[in-house]
Amino acid sequence: MINFGINKWGNNDFIVEDSLLKINHLSKPSFKKIIDKSIKDYNFSGPILLLFPHLIKKQIKELFNSFNKSIKEISYNGNFKAVFPLKVNQSSSFIKSLLDESIDYEYGFEVGSKPELILAMRFCRENRPIIINGFKDEELIKMVFLAKNIGHDITIVIEGLNELDSIIKIYKDSHYKDMPNIGFRIRLHSLGDGNWAKSSGIHSKFGLTSTEILEAVNILEKNGLLDILKMVHFHIGSQINTITPFKKAIREIGNIYAELRKIGATSLDCIDIGGGLNIEYSQHSNDIQKNYTITEFSNDVIYLIKEISNKKCVKDPDILIESGRFIASSHCVLVARTLELFSDDIKKRALNLKSQNPPLIEELNYLYNNITKNSAREYLHDSLDHMESLLTLFDLGYIDLQDRSNTEILVNLLVKKSIQLLKDKHYKELLSIKDMLQEKYLLNFSIFQSLPDLWAINQNFPIIPLDKLDEPPTRNASIFDITCDSDGEIEFDNTKPLYLHEVNLEDEDYYIGFFLVGAYQESLGAKHNLFAKPNSIVVEITENDFILKESKESNSINKILTDMDYDIDEFLSYFYNKISKLQKINNIEKKDFKNYVFDFLKTNSYLR
Ligand code: PLP
Repeated sequence: MINFGINKWGNNDFIVEDSLLKINHLSKPSFKKIIDKSIKDYNFSGPILLLFPHLIKKQIKELFNSFNKSIKEISYNGNFKAVFPLKVNQSSSFIKSLLDESIDYEYGFEVGSKPELILAMRFCRENRPIIINGFKDEELIKMVFLAKNIGHDITIVIEGLNELDSIIKIYKDSHYKDMPNIGFRIRLHSLGDGNWAKSSGIHSKFGLTSTEILEAVNILEKNGLLDILKMVHFHIGSQINTITPFKKAIREIGNIYAELRKIGATSLDCIDIGGGLNIEYSQHSNDIQKNYTITEFSNDVIYLIKEISNKKCVKDPDILIESGRFIASSHCVLVARTLELFSDDIKKRALNLKSQNPPLIEELNYLYNNITKNSAREYLHDSLDHMESLLTLFDLGYIDLQDRSNTEILVNLLVKKSIQLLKDKHYKELLSIKDMLQEKYLLNFSIFQSLPDLWAINQNFPIIPLDKLDEPPTRNASIFDITCDSDGEIEFDNTKPLYLHEVNLEDEDYYIGFFLVGAYQESLGAKHNLFAKPNSIVVEITENDFILKESKESNSINKILTDMDYDIDEFLSYFYNKISKLQKINNIEKKDFKNYVFDFLKTNSYLR
């Protein structure tokens, strides 16, 4: 069984059984069965996002269980709570599932913009925390006051002193009785690691310096408002792969918390440790990123803070976490169908030698037919030399296109034969030649829309075919999307090679799954070439089967163009007018054309 590194990144969520990739939960249905049913029931064309709510629940449970266990073991006197950072996934299917699956936990939302605030105010359950991060204007702050006064447990985290001034001004000017809680975002010395480390460190865009913290305390005290300071907060970046920066940051924030309490901020009772908890994306042993477990993480947080609060004789604060990637990544799988293969593996039957060939082609043919293990390396070198000469001859007009084609085929066959003959010898040149012989899999999706982090920052996502997993994948694979952009490619990388199967697309479908795409990808996805969000469907796994819910079709061309401010009615009358004026067709055919245009605009951008 070939499992594409599931044991490294899969977290026991998926299994390979009877050649199929399956969901490791209750009835364990195969992806193939789910995809077949989705297409049959909903007539989806284009890529499909499969959303699994049970995997959201699994992650929330793991997070809370781990922290609550650490709290119990270390006799910690504070509580653990969490918020979901809305920037990570705002889609309504996800938020609905998140709300259902988090009902048993003290689980709220983190907000970074005005629309996210409205989402949180609409959906956050009573008494669950809402945390407001990011930069704010007076309009937004006024809405936070409203949220507080309609009963939300809401904390506004100050990024700069001017925000504090605005809050106090609004409080004094308004008729609101209740003030929202205040948190300070602290600009820590400690730096994160990886792609998102810019969120941290003394030069980061966010947070208060020590001097500003003291000034903020003064301002609150002067206005008789020090008792609304409830929280200190940091975020050292997303996908923190090593535990060391976290531990440094925890020590720093723990001491800031204790110092603030000692200078009179006695209502301060919570440390918000931000996001950053990572997940393993790697399919390859040589590329494993994560160096800690959730247990080690929660033990470290609780232990280090307890140590500081004991030493400085302050109460143990509540711990609040803003994990996004850890909660959302695994629940979403992108599935795309292979439309076509573009092979570097040219078949012998395409060889069409003439009765009289140029001498170098005769020579190539001789080499191909007489190559042995002993002569393979020499013949390989000769054939590559001959190819160079033959291509030059073509450029100079001395050989024709058929000769050029025969050259390509013979060299390709020779290279493959020599690789086979020399497979127990590890010649460097042979490996690089082998890497060049790739199969290009054209998939019905857009990398810019569905895997933006892959395009923008070269983020890995585990890739695995949904079927044929009892056969060894033999082709060095690169994946192409259907955008007209050379960046829409996942190139073959021999340090992290992807091998896929030989398939005959005339006889069989070959679906590829992209895993761990539930965090950030939907919200960052770009409409490059006007490819819209894929189709999506929620899959609830039951004891005996599965249920498909909340299907959402990818946006139609109508909707995509309307969103770009085009007037579709104007488009239609333009096309209808042109069709009406066509000379060579009758009225019935004109009507057919008009219907065709009308229906075409109702389809989505992906290929059918
Ligand atoms: N909190 C804040 C302030 C963030 O900026 C982010 C994302 O970078 C998060 C939480 C979520 O981080 P993650 O998805 O790594 O848990």
